[in-house]
Amino acid sequence: MACVSYPYAAPVSQTLFDRAAAVTPGGVNSPVRAFRAVGGTPRFMVSGDGPYLTDADGREYVDLVCSWGPMILGHSHPEVTAAVQAAVARGTSFGTPGEGEVELAEEIVARVAPVEQVRLVSSGTEATMSAIRLARGYTGRSKVIKFAGCYHGHVDALLAAAGSGVATFGLPDTPGVTGAQAGETVVLPYNDLEAVRAAFAAHPGEIACVITEASAGNMGVVPPLPGFNAGLKQLCADHGALYVSDEVMTGFRVSRAGWFGLDGVEPDLMTFGKVMGGGFPAAAFGGRADVMERLAPAGPVYQAGTLSGNPVATAAGVAQLRLLDDAAYAEVDAASERLRAMVAEALSKEGVAHRIQAAGNMFSVFFTTDEVTDYEKAKAQEAFRFTAFFHSMLSQGVYLPPSAFESWFVSAAHDERALERVRAALPGAARAAAEATE
Ligand code: PLP
Repeated sequence: MACVSYPYAAPVSQTLFDRAAAVTPGGVNSPVRAFRAVGGTPRFMVSGDGPYLTDADGREYVDLVCSWGPMILGHSHPEVTAAVQAAVARGTSFGTPGEGEVELAEEIVARVAPVEQVRLVSSGTEATMSAIRLARGYTGRSKVIKFAGCYHGHVDALLAAAGSGVATFGLPDTPGVTGAQAGETVVLPYNDLEAVRAAFAAHPGEIACVITEASAGNMGVVPPLPGFNAGLKQLCADHGALYVSDEVMTGFRVSRAGWFGLDGVEPDLMTFGKVMGGGFPAAAFGGRADVMERLAPAGPVYQAGTLSGNPVATAAGVAQLRLLDDAAYAEVDAASERLRAMVAEALSKEGVAHRIQAAGNMFSVFFTTDEVTDYEKAKAQEAFRFTAFFHSMLSQGVYLPPSAFESWFVSAAHDERALERVRAALPGAARAAAEATE
């Protein structure tokens, strides 16, 4: 790791982190929150308002994480908050069907043409896990193709990301995932259609589905090359497999209809999360009615959830989606474009080798000049420069994702004032990146 001095202390966050570490593994409930990739003390946030977060030490930040995507209208949007408060007042969970679930499902079906039917779940992980089970149940096949660097939640079979080359069988990436669980997963390099073609040829009649991030965002932002998604769809169709597009990150964020709204390639199944929950645990998978109808109780493939379609979560999701009209997306896109230009200008001024890659309004900064098209290339960047850049921005009140391999997220609330605060912080951060040593 780079030698970075942390410009100021966060004593209250540090105390909370110490308490957390005593009762929670690593002090966090999701690993990337722990700042392990960049070092230093994770900030414990106490409130959010529009584009800003305030930490337990009372310091305010421009938030460029947006809860890893969901807060596309900014924090504490008054209309979303009002919908949540009204839902809470009616009761928080019934364990029965409710109108909010129907409204959220209708909203999704209306926006995303390939989704004829949808099932609500509580996390993106549940969505991808269930989509794969359904694909296997529907096709009667066992193998799944995924791409190195694509993250689909912590589904056992999908935590196999190692290996490259044709038909490399997944090795479990983590203790606790058995060879049997990962062994049905074929891991291929992203953006490599030839590898996919070869894998289908090597395993005739065995591949249930190809799952891919609609546009990769979990190795930094690496969009599909022209024709990649369409090629996957065609290969799946040719070989009787299902094309599963994971839009947990891109869904309802990069357009009304997510990445599908930008590339128009029709998946058989899709997964959603993040934005559709309005900051609450709501996610979904959906797609072709003839496939979805194989799910219990309509069909034999079992899938269930005590809190699935929770009335508070669905109220938040419906309220947020209904506010996400063309004008809102135009605001998010414009903020993203401005920000990208500012970052590029600051880094160029300091002579820092970099490349900003975008997928709609999602983007990330790679510290390399080479185009990044797959995980190997993403890993080849000078990530130590990001560490210095990150801490300089943090010390100046800008909260970036604490890893060089994550997308940055903006919201419709990122107004002139917030963007100017980022602009003011950038020269110092670019200098820190320029001066960083491995
Ligand atoms: N799929 C993608 C593309 C994701 O980015 C994520 C989470 O970041 C997931 C699935 C898992 O979602 P969750 O964290 O809600 O389980």
